[in-house]
Amino acid sequence: MNQKFWEEYQKSALSTAVYNKIIPAGTLNIYYPTAGLVGEIGELIEVIQLKRSEEIIIGEFGDILWYIADIYTVLNEPMSSEPFSRWVTAGAVSGTLLDLCKNSGLLMNQIKKIARDDKFEINDTKRDFILDKLKEISYNLWCVAASLNISCSMEDIARKNTEKLNERMLEGKLHGSDGSR
Ligand SMILES: [Mg+2]
Repeated sequence: MNQKFWEEYQKSALSTAVYNKIIPAGTLNIYYPTAGLVGEIGELIEVIQLKRSEEIIIGEFGDILWYIADIYTVLNEPMSSEPFSRWVTAGAVSGTLLDLCKNSGLLMNQIKKIARDDKFEINDTKRDFILDKLKEISYNLWCVAASLNISCSMEDIARKNTEKLNERMLEGKLHGSDGSR
């Protein structure tokens, strides 16, 4: 799987980020994208439950990838392609979504503790935990896509996400209620 592709995607995600110009660096800059990630997982589950079109579901996958990319950026780490090179297991959608929810909840919990106990200072142990969870969440996401028989690859989903955000940026709409980043 293409590591360079994901690093390029990460750069393009950063270029469409707005929140990091509003929130001071070193305070909420890990909290915001993690909360965004958990929020987008909620949106993904909602559109799956509502049996919305594949295009809409793919859009939510892209939104999640965007926040994953941003958390890697906050940690000054390249977005890892490794989860997308694992053997993917397509199973019951509900089971794969449970894994996705579990890992995102555990990640959010860790960030909450970093905010409460460590004043946003991330030590090596917690950093490793976050990076591990980002990989698990990426893999879970791919398993959900496989379980839903989504007709395009994770790279295609990332490409569509970049196209959507670049269009919004050109239209000056990154701040909209539907597109705040
Ligand atoms: Mg969304």
